[in-house]
Amino acid sequence: MTKINISDILVKYDKKNLRIATVCSHSSLQIFNGAKKEGFKTLGISIGEKKKFYDAFPRGKPDEFLIVENYKEILKYTEELKEKNVIVIPHGSFVEYLGADKFLKLNIPTFGNRNVLIWESDRNKEREWLEGAGLTMPTEIKDPHFIEQPVIVKYHGAKGGKGFFIAKTYEEFKKRIDKRRSYTIQEFVMGTRYYLHYFYSPIQKNAYSLQKGSLQLLSMDRRDETTIDEVQRLGSIAELEELGIHPTFVVTGNIPIVMRESLLPKVFEMGKSVVEESIKLFGGIIGSFCLETVVTEELKFKVFEISARIVAGTNPYIGGSPYSELIQPDLSTGRRIAQEIKYANKKNLLLEILT
Ligand code: AMP
Repeated sequence: MTKINISDILVKYDKKNLRIATVCSHSSLQIFNGAKKEGFKTLGISIGEKKKFYDAFPRGKPDEFLIVENYKEILKYTEELKEKNVIVIPHGSFVEYLGADKFLKLNIPTFGNRNVLIWESDRNKEREWLEGAGLTMPTEIKDPHFIEQPVIVKYHGAKGGKGFFIAKTYEEFKKRIDKRRSYTIQEFVMGTRYYLHYFYSPIQKNAYSLQKGSLQLLSMDRRDETTIDEVQRLGSIAELEELGIHPTFVVTGNIPIVMRESLLPKVFEMGKSVVEESIKLFGGIIGSFCLETVVTEELKFKVFEISARIVAGTNPYIGGSPYSELIQPDLSTGRRIAQEIKYANKKNLLLEILT
């Protein structure tokens, strides 16, 4: 568990000049754009060099850059970042490349509850959390000898679907598995994928009401994954596999999507129970999170993953989504995060949303 005393840091901060910072990757254009819209100064932590492409996007470019040699170097700059009254917005790449241990030690006020990492990065704990919340997850197959239906094999720690493969029999599994790596075998759920982008505020009661705080649905996307999503252009998966060509699940982009309206009550119920269970388990998730789901032909949700921070799937909605439009025009997840920080600052509640 993190034991960084951020209240000691925050008392020294100039609260009129908070600065929003993140690493220049993933969803940083959106985060900077959202922060600027809410009147914050921004700082981009750039690895290796100042990324030239930001010049082409003035409304997504940070006001200043901190150039560091590699992710691990970020820890060396904590004093400098604190002097600039920095609040860090973590995103997937930030946490992945910095490493969970260093992220937990980062001595700078960070948006969200960092303790969620312990529950999110361990597949057993993640299952305990999500099933404890009453969600249905894909069945886990503990022994590969019992593969009787299509399964997806996921290597631990492999982000972005790298190395994942589908198997339909034990023989197929045996041929493909890299035994040196630890893995999980899951039922391959047939259906359509929806990645649901929620925002939970523990301090505001202006949306879908929870015991404490309230929940919003800001947007949803579908990931574009190579080669699985276009593999049919070359023939059926079965035909290709006979030739030794196997589909992969590497994320290359995100596609905007909406869901039939009749499913929305279930979307909110799931979000609510995930938050309420997280409060019981580790003091609660804060801010943005994403449930990665498949909707089956019976219109049931199966949830195969949770991401407990802003996901790159929110990037199609820098100017708002069909859902956030119903809350406020031009509201992205990045902007919503900035709004939460602004509100908490005004009400002296920063300690409720930062760790
Ligand atoms: P993950 O790293 O768990 O997000 O999985 C990477 C990708 O694999 C997802 O975006 C889905 O396209 C696919 N996937 C993961 N789990 C399942 C599942 N149980 N059934 C079907 N597809 C899945």
